[in-house]
Amino acid sequence: MAMIGICSICGRPAASTCPLCGRLVCPQDSDPVTHVCRLCAGKGGRVRITT
Ligand SMILES: [Zn+2]
Ligand SMILES: [Zn+2]
Repeated sequence: MAMIGICSICGRPAASTCPLCGRLVCPQDSDPVTHVCRLCAGKGGRVRITT
């Protein structure tokens, strides 16, 4: 897994970019399949994130 930047949510190393808002997000803050971040997922999205 390549690190591409810093997570916009928690500041940890990010490994993906949210397809909805373009934020860099770490695996803990994004959906493992869709990579949608928890901020977008919390806005009425259907993405399930387990914490
Ligand atoms: Zn994060
Ligand atoms: Zn997002």
